[in-house]
Parts: sequence; C-alpha cells; structure tokens
Amino acid sequence: MYDAIVIGAGPCGCAAAITLSKSGHKVVLLEKYKLPRYKSCSGILIDKSIRFIEKKLGRAVPAFVTCTPVENRGMVLFDDGGKKYEFQSRGLNILRDKFDCWLVSLAKEAGAEVRDESAVTHIRTTETEAEVEVNGASIFARYAIDCTGAVGVSGVRPAITTYQTFNVGSADLDYHYFYAFLQPELSDYDAWFNVKDGMLIIGAASPDAKAAKLFHEKFTAFMVRNYGLKITETRKTDKWIMRKVAPPFDIDCGAGRLLKAGENAGFLNPMGEGISCALESGYCAAAAVSNALNGTRNAADVYTELTVETVNYMRRQWKLVGKMSDKFAYMN
Ligand SMILES: Cc1cc2nc3c(=O)[nH]c(=O)nc-3n(C[C@H](O)[C@H](O)[C@H](O)COP(=O)(O)OP(=O)(O)OC[C@H]3O[C@@H](n4cnc5c(N)ncnc54)[C@H](O)[C@@H]3O)c2cc1C
Repeated sequence: MYDAIVIGAGPCGCAAAITLSKSGHKVVLLEKYKLPRYKSCSGILIDKSIRFIEKKLGRAVPAFVTCTPVENRGMVLFDDGGKKYEFQSRGLNILRDKFDCWLVSLAKEAGAEVRDESAVTHIRTTETEAEVEVNGASIFARYAIDCTGAVGVSGVRPAITTYQTFNVGSADLDYHYFYAFLQPELSDYDAWFNVKDGMLIIGAASPDAKAAKLFHEKFTAFMVRNYGLKITETRKTDKWIMRKVAPPFDIDCGAGRLLKAGENAGFLNPMGEGISCALESGYCAAAAVSNALNGTRNAADVYTELTVETVNYMRRQWKLVGKMSDKFAYMN
C-alpha cells in the first residue's frame, strides 16, 4: 500500500512525485513508456517555470537538458492581420526527453519508486483507497494522481493536432525567439517556427487532424516567401495532440481518492505553453494529498483552492489571445 500512486512521468507527475516524496510519503511514479521517453514539444521553458523549479523543487535547471541556442529571449507573435508583437522574457531552450528525465531523477533522489514501461489501464476508487491496474496487476494507494497528459488513461478528449517538421537550412529570423503566427490563412489554430540544435522547426496546428498537414504546407511556403526560409533536408516529421481549451476553462481536478493534474486535467496556456501549469498543478495536487494524508480536509477541495492562481493565469492568457485573433474570440 502506497500513500500515493502518481501516473505519468511528465513535468506534472514528476513535480507531484518529488513533492510528496520530499514530505516523507511512500510514492510510486508510473510511466507508460521506457524512460527517457519522447514528448513532442517546442521545448521553451518560460521564466515562470524556471522560477518555479528553483523555488519549489529547490534546483536550477541544469545545462545538460538544454539545446542551442540555450537562451530563449521570448516570443514574437503575429496577430490575425500579421501585426507583430514582441514579448521579451528570459527562457531556456530545452530538450524534453532530457528535461523530463532529469525531473524523474529528482523524484528518485527524493525517495519515489519509479516504474517505466508501466501503462495504467484502469483506475478505481473507494472511499478509502485507489486501485490502479498496471501491466495486468493491481496496486493500491491512499490516493492516485493522474498526470497522463493530453491522452489520459481513458482515451483522447477534444484535441488539437500538431504537425511539425525538423529541417536543416536557414531563415532570416533571430533563432533566440519562438515565433507564433495567428493569420487565418496559415492555420485555423496557430503556426510556429523555432530552432533547436540547428534544426529549423516548422509547425502548424488544427482542430482537424487531416488539415494540420495542409496548413503546415501553406505555412512553409509563407516562410519561404517572407522570411527567406531555405530547407536543404527534412530530417523528421512529428504529429502529436494537445488538449483543446475553451471557456469556461473547466479544470477537472478529480474527486475523492483520485486527483487529476497537468494537461490531463485541462491545464494548458496559449501557444501550447503547458510546462508551467503542469509543474504548478502537479505540485498543488501533491500538496493537497499530503495535507489530506496528515489531516482531515478533502484533497480535491484543497487542490482546487491551491490552483486558483494557475487557472486565473491561464484564463488571462487565453483572453489576451482572444483579443488578438478572431479565431480565438470565443476565449473572451
Ligand atoms: C508540438 C507541441 C509543442 C509544445 N511546446 C511547448 C513549449 O515550448 N513549452 C511548453 O511549456 N509547453 C509546450 N507544449 C505543451 C507541453 O508539452 C505539455 O502541456 C506538457 O508536457 C504537459 O505536461 P504533463 O506532465 O501534464 O503531461 P505530459 O508531459 O504529456 O506527460 C504525461 C506522461 O504520462 C504518460 N502516460 C500517458 N498515459 C499513461 C498511462 N496510461 N499510464 C502511464 N503513463 C501514461 C505519458 O507517456 C507521459 O510521459 C507543447 C506541446 C506540443 C504538442
């Protein structure tokens, strides 16, 4: 019997496992894939996440999880009409497999048991415990925290498809920035450009899985015309999903003996920035479980209270995008 079973070894699950283990609780962290696992991501770690890691996890982000250019200087955003906005801020260009694996090592160091290649197929709860089915066997804990990202244990919910290519070449842009394009002719969601270890990443997203690739083609042609994009070789193509966010920004915090956190619970900021709210919500879920294990208050109630600022930040960010783009006007 564990105090907590944390499912999913992304930033959310790792933050939860680290926090609970540091509080002296018996924790197992379960991950579906063999670690280090791949996660499609632009890998921009914003200042909010860097500060959170320093403050709540007690560590500085190590150089070995970064790629070049190491320093991210912010985001350049183009609205519906192509008007340019520059948001300067400190950030890091990270590789998710290395970053997430580093977080897993912090969970182990804090005392959590980590099991990879452990896909959870069912979670059942009673008033007093959670039963989690993994690789055909059941394990039990006083609480479970589901941090399984966009897909989740019970399957895909409304999602946005992302389509990216990793290219050798050049473009007339400053590689220290993440570029996001909201022009409707380029995508019915968003399109982006960033650089990691010399790879030029061209991406487009759409609520329609088939359309994402077509928008990607349009966006690539746009980059060639407007930013001197030259591609000599495409090394990789990658298709993924992320949660579709919409008002009233309902977050499914879970109930009873099962809490939900990270993208699985519905936390995701605009332009696909999800690491900060994954870390914060994982930490808050763990703090709520720790509180419930030591006291009498209901874990889900405490968790909901602790995440108010994370939810408000997310709402504010989406509303800002709603003002910049008719496509996202429903966010207002
Ligand atoms: C193309 C793209 C670009 C992005 N770029 C950025 C960016 O630059 N910056 C940023 O902040 N965010 C970015 N995001 C969003 C960010 O990647 C996610 O929001 C973030 O990873 C969510 O963290 P999480 O821990 O909630 O989930 P995840 O990181 O998805 O982790 C969930 C984990 O659970 C595991 N899992 C799933 N099902 C099971 C199961 N049944 N049993 C056991 N384990 C399971 C998964 O394998 C995974 O390891 C991007 C997303 C996409 C798709």
